[in-house]
Parts: sequence; C-alpha cells; structure tokens
Amino acid sequence: MKFLLVTDLDHTLVGDAQATLALNQKLAAMRDRLSLIYATGRSYLSARQLKHEAQLLEPDYWITGVGTEIYHQGNRDSVWAQQLSDNWQREQITALVQGFPDLIPQPDDAQNPWKISYFLHSSTADVILTTLRLQLVQANLPAKIIFSSNRDVDILPLSGDKGLAMTYVRQQLQLPSEAMLVCGDSGNDISLFQHATQGVIVRNAQPELLDWYRQSQQSPQSEFFRHYWAQSAHAWGILEALFYFRWL
Ligand SMILES: [Mg+2]
Repeated sequence: MKFLLVTDLDHTLVGDAQATLALNQKLAAMRDRLSLIYATGRSYLSARQLKHEAQLLEPDYWITGVGTEIYHQGNRDSVWAQQLSDNWQREQITALVQGFPDLIPQPDDAQNPWKISYFLHSSTADVILTTLRLQLVQANLPAKIIFSSNRDVDILPLSGDKGLAMTYVRQQLQLPSEAMLVCGDSGNDISLFQHATQGVIVRNAQPELLDWYRQSQQSPQSEFFRHYWAQSAHAWGILEALFYFRWL
C-alpha cells in the first residue's frame, strides 16, 4: 500500500535546511511508494518559489491558500473550486470586516477568491474574533475563521480548510486514513489533525496548536487518534515520526 505524507511547509518541512535535506533523502529513496502532499497557507506561486529556494521534492499535490486551492500537475482542481464557491459571499464578508479596525488586510498575493486574510496583533484577539464570528452568523454569511501564529487571520468558506482539502485528495487517491501521516506546526494545521489518525506536531509548534493538542488528548475520541508531539523541531520531527510510526 502507498504511504501518504501530508506536510505543512513553513516551520514544519522548511525551517532547518539540514533537517529538510536529511528528510528529502529518505523520502526520495521511498518515492515510488510515497504520495506527497504539501499543505500550506501560501499561494501556489509563493509555495512553488519556496520549493525552489529550499530545494524540496516535487509533490504529487499542492494544497495552497490554507486549503482553498488544490493543484495537481500544474492545474487547479475546478471541482474543489466549485464546491467552495457555493454559498460563499466574499464581498459581503469583506465589507463586514471593515468594521474591525484591528484587522489589517494582508497583501494582495495572500488573498484569493476563497481566502480573505488579515493581520491581527492584539492582546484581545480572542474577543475580537469571537465578535466577528457572531456578526458573520447574524449577517447570515457562512465562513470559517482560522487564527494562526498569533498574527494571521484567514476567513474561508465553511467547506474549505487544509484538512478537508487533504481528505478530498486522499479519497481521490483511494488511500485509507491509516496510510497517512500529517505534519504541522500552527493553528491552520489543526484541521489536518482533525482528519487524520496519525499526525506529528513538530517540537517548535505554536501555542494554539499545542493548546488544541492538549485539549484533544482529554477528549473521549482521543483513543482513535495517534497524534504525537515530536522531541525534535522542523523536519527532524517529521523524520522522528516516520520512525515512531514505523514508516521507515
Ligand atoms: Mg507552518
């Protein structure tokens, strides 16, 4: 059976050049029995640029824009795009957010038709986002708000995030969840763990992911999941998990 590796890029696969190189060598040696997916908050263009700079392997699929876009062999998946477009009112949401002066729009290259991104630096971020969620519900504007690295706010369609995009691809590949390992470091990776039985959180993870991890360990469903906080950081943590889960 093929093995499916789904990994975030920044501060997970990428961040320690030596670790990335060491992991790449292991992955290259098992490439014929490996399906590789990169799942990132970056745009496709920016992610490809990073792949070039960090000398990453070419993946089988790219999940970009926090799960709002899926690329395979250079083409964007139009079925996925169509699914996300249902009941998604980008302009109205953007207009509503203008009432929140703490939310600073990110540059144009961080935006796409299904992703509206802001910076938020505030000690009351939780209160601000709770208020925003409430107002979106009251305005009947379905959306999902993801807060990562105590800085990035991404507003997405309800049907889009990294975990849902990964599940869509995994089903296309006809691979069971047990054949998959997910890897991440921050809040926008939480959905990967929610949809995967095996996952590794790298040592250098952000507090919001570690908080979620600790809470999930208390939940009654935790016995179905084998999520693991690695001893080592960045790609060393992925390598550690490949041994831990006996994929190497
Ligand atoms: Mg990351």
